[in-house]
Amino acid sequence: MTILVTGGAGFIGSAVVRLAVSRGLSVVNLDALTYAASLENVASVATSPLYAFEHADIRDRAALERIFNAHQPDAVMHLAAESHVDRSIDGPADFIETNINGTFNLLEAARKYWAGKGRPEAFRVHHISTDEVYGSLPADPSVKFTEETRYDPRSPYSASKAAADHLVRAWHETYGLPVVLTNCSNNYGPYHFPEKLIPLMIIKALAGETLPVYGDGSNVRDWLYVEDHADALLTVLQAGAVGRAYNIGGNSERTNLELVTALCAVLDELRPSTQPYASLIRFVEDRPGHDARYAIDASRIAGELGWRPSVTLEEGLRRTVQWYLDNERWWRPLLARKGAGDRLGTKV
Ligand code: NAD
Repeated sequence: MTILVTGGAGFIGSAVVRLAVSRGLSVVNLDALTYAASLENVASVATSPLYAFEHADIRDRAALERIFNAHQPDAVMHLAAESHVDRSIDGPADFIETNINGTFNLLEAARKYWAGKGRPEAFRVHHISTDEVYGSLPADPSVKFTEETRYDPRSPYSASKAAADHLVRAWHETYGLPVVLTNCSNNYGPYHFPEKLIPLMIIKALAGETLPVYGDGSNVRDWLYVEDHADALLTVLQAGAVGRAYNIGGNSERTNLELVTALCAVLDELRPSTQPYASLIRFVEDRPGHDARYAIDASRIAGELGWRPSVTLEEGLRRTVQWYLDNERWWRPLLARKGAGDRLGTKV
């Protein structure tokens, strides 16, 4: 089986590429190599005969058509996107271009290729999306996002992802393109670009800088270890029902303050300092339109496909902190890209 992965040099895409190749699947990694990408993320598979790289932009239809014809994929996993909420607030244009127009291009290229092959039933386009399309939840812990929750995106990022989700569904309903969709909560783990919350806090703490937490730190997010997400994605690609969406979550809701405090405790243990790292925490002015709470009901993927997360948040944070301690050579140069090191990230 050959999978065309878009965005495979990014954080989650590279985890998918590494896992797929380790399972004997052929992968074509299509990536424009924006500021958020690094080919080091896939260095461990780069020489595998199962791996190929295509430097291309999903906004370029002709390039997409050439790549489909050259590699004859059996499936597409679409992760290429602009992914940082704070950047979408400062400059939404790239998010519209890549996340909406890029997805439209990909769907059209996939449809043409699929039709040219006689519309094989086994072909799949798997669109990877976020729980943020559902908007914000009240504090009541019994209320969670299900696959039936009404879309209510509130940031330029989530609106662009919601638009892409609607296009994918429409290409299934209108043209019969075999699609599956997934909506996942916040990911964390190795190779996470250092402007996002968890790596940013680790790096700032190691430098003895203050740890900026939006508002009063009470915003709640659900966290999933990235390698568990990659496993869930391959599960849905291979066993999910056509036309169906699956929510993916870690069953690990934490307030931002709880999360940063937990990170500090791991750092205290793995890299002791004179002061506890939590003393560096400072509250800063809240993000505009900051969603209060996200929480995922992942019972569909558990019940229908038997998938559950395997890594607890505590274990995942420990692995992640250790990885950043061991891999400064990877993250240090990235801080200079597009002012990443100066940004406050509370969305991965
Ligand atoms: P990322 O920013 O780390 O990686 C995105 C990748 O897409 C990069 O390698 C980048 O070069 C590539 N890319 C961007 N624009 C492109 C274009 N026009 N053409 C080709 N390639 C392009 O993002 P991520 O965190 O790995 O997220 C991957 C996907 O998963 C996104 O679609 C995101 O919306 C979704 N998602 C992310 C999270 C999360 O917590 N990070 C949660 C749920 C869903």
